Amino acid sequence: MNILLTGCAGFIGSHTLDRLLAEGHQVIGVDNFDPFYSRSLKQANLGKHLDAEAHEGRFELIEGDLADPATYTKIRFMAEGMFGEAGFDAIIHLAAKAGVRPSIQDPVGYQRANVVATQNLLEFAREAGVQQFVFASSSSVYGISPNVPWHEDDVVLRPISPYASSKVSCELLGHVYSHLYGIRFLGLRFFTVYGPRQRPDLAINKFVSRIEAGEPIPVFGDGSTRRDYTFVMDIVDGVMAALNYTDSTYEVINLGNNRTVSLSEMIATIESVLGKQAQIDRQPEQPGDVPQTWADVAKAGRLLNYHPTTSFRDGIQAFVDWWRGKEATGLF
Ligand code: NAD
Repeated sequence: MNILLTGCAGFIGSHTLDRLLAEGHQVIGVDNFDPFYSRSLKQANLGKHLDAEAHEGRFELIEGDLADPATYTKIRFMAEGMFGEAGFDAIIHLAAKAGVRPSIQDPVGYQRANVVATQNLLEFAREAGVQQFVFASSSSVYGISPNVPWHEDDVVLRPISPYASSKVSCELLGHVYSHLYGIRFLGLRFFTVYGPRQRPDLAINKFVSRIEAGEPIPVFGDGSTRRDYTFVMDIVDGVMAALNYTDSTYEVINLGNNRTVSLSEMIATIESVLGKQAQIDRQPEQPGDVPQTWADVAKAGRLLNYHPTTSFRDGIQAFVDWWRGKEATGLF
């Protein structure tokens, strides 16, 4: 397939790129190397794909901001050269400003990078006749709903952070484009994704770095908050399955694990894998944080044959192995 992949230099995007190229697809990737975290980490995520010979010309990178109309001129030009008349078969839209707490400091920036960019990209899809649009939504759309596990039919009109509200907005825009133009829109609600290349702002990455350095880890609340952690390769399985889904024109689908882990259990697992004790720096709960996330993944199983397989301990071990390899190269 000919794929437009956004956010290709990021954590989930770069794993998706690896899989797409390994399976023989042709990919134009877009990323603006948002300074949310370091460019060098994103370049390392892209790794060997930056070398044209590694993939026989099946990957091109466009550095551009999807909220900026000029980026679409570059995409059109590149697509003409690579695919000719055929154009794109699908868009996988993973680019976003991610992170709940930073969105409270920069709500306008989040609106632009997430909502304006998605609006522009949907318009591009319409003009370019792209039929399949896979979108990275988030468990944060469920807000603080106490009705767990969360189900796709739950009402999600009560987000509690600018980030969460931006993801709800994008799902709504996707519905408009599927209704008016028949573009198939699949909003995949990812639940706390972790694994190699995880963003440095996320807790597992931060905790491993600090415990290894002998520094205290900030723990918000009493450790009882729970997350439905999902290993990144399981998420990529779901994204790839969504590329081939054709049974309806609009769906939102949870991609989680249907298994929750408390913050205290998460820390204990990291301690056990590292063989080191954490020093806890207890902090008050943070505004915008939700007490628990928990996915009902029955729909993903039914529609996408999605069955996450990675145990939490194995996933943490994979993260630590990656982190130690990168730390040795001085990347952090
Ligand atoms: P990431 O920050 O590692 O990747 C996002 C990439 O998008 C970055 O490389 C960034 O430079 C790029 N980007 C941001 N704004 C852009 C713009 N305007 N134009 C072009 N590129 C832009 O984040 P991630 O954790 O890999 O998340 C990927 C997607 O999954 C995001 O949409 C995020 O909201 C969603 N998501 C992630 C998680 C998680 O736990 N990691 C959970 C739920 C949803």
